[in-house]
Amino acid sequence: MSNETFSLIGIYGGTFDPVHFGHLRVAEELIEILQLDEIRFVPAGHPRLRNEPIASQHHRKIMLYEAIRDNKKFFLDDRELRRSGESYSVASLRELKEEFKGKKVAFCFIIGVDAFLKLPNWHLWRELFELSHLVIVNRPGHISFQHQACLPPKLQEACSDRWTDDVNALKHVSSGFVFTAETTLLDISSTTIRAYIAAEKSARYLLPDNVLNYIGTHHVYTRENENR
Ligand code: ATP
Ligand code: MG
Repeated sequence: MSNETFSLIGIYGGTFDPVHFGHLRVAEELIEILQLDEIRFVPAGHPRLRNEPIASQHHRKIMLYEAIRDNKKFFLDDRELRRSGESYSVASLRELKEEFKGKKVAFCFIIGVDAFLKLPNWHLWRELFELSHLVIVNRPGHISFQHQACLPPKLQEACSDRWTDDVNALKHVSSGFVFTAETTLLDISSTTIRAYIAAEKSARYLLPDNVLNYIGTHHVYTRENENR
């Protein structure tokens, strides 16, 4: 391991349809746990492995912006919305790497355990380890794991010599470690929030008030075709 140290930048990809306190609390805690300089939230344009989001790109971007605008360490990175075609995290990380060329920066790609378990389906997924560290957060309702237990074989093999419990290790190489962070478990999902709103049930306290107000004003999840 070299003596040079890297500043750490969190990259938090997702559909954010809508963003909620599960995302935001994890991000806040990871800033402290990993001593991140910042976190970039990267909303997916057209996710390859799931249905098209319900809210338009425009609404998802504004909701995310509203949710993070007061946090000096949170930034919206809309590169995947600006790019046409399907969204690939690898493509975004490649671009970021190029933009930060010459700077002592290491990226920490933040991923919930539900998404991590599906990683082998992602486009060029093995390259993620060349471009960033992976930071896995647990989610209620999904298996929680410590290191290699319960992983699909492909993932187990790809991660086998990458695990670390040492936060400082992430600062000494620019990519390649896999770290499991102990963040507060919040059983909140965008799917549940969308269902509550569509059923005219309260979604208060699951996401920021300004986001909920935006959803109400623009009928984001209630009226068909009004969110385009
Ligand atoms: P949906 O129900 O539409 O899939 P979601 O709540 O899972 O939405 P996503 O935008 O799909 O939110 O998630 C983006 C990333 O955030 C994923 O890596 C996911 O695992 C993680 N994540 C989402 N909600 C939580 C949560 N409550 N706790 C920890 N991680 C979360
Ligand atoms: Mg999800």
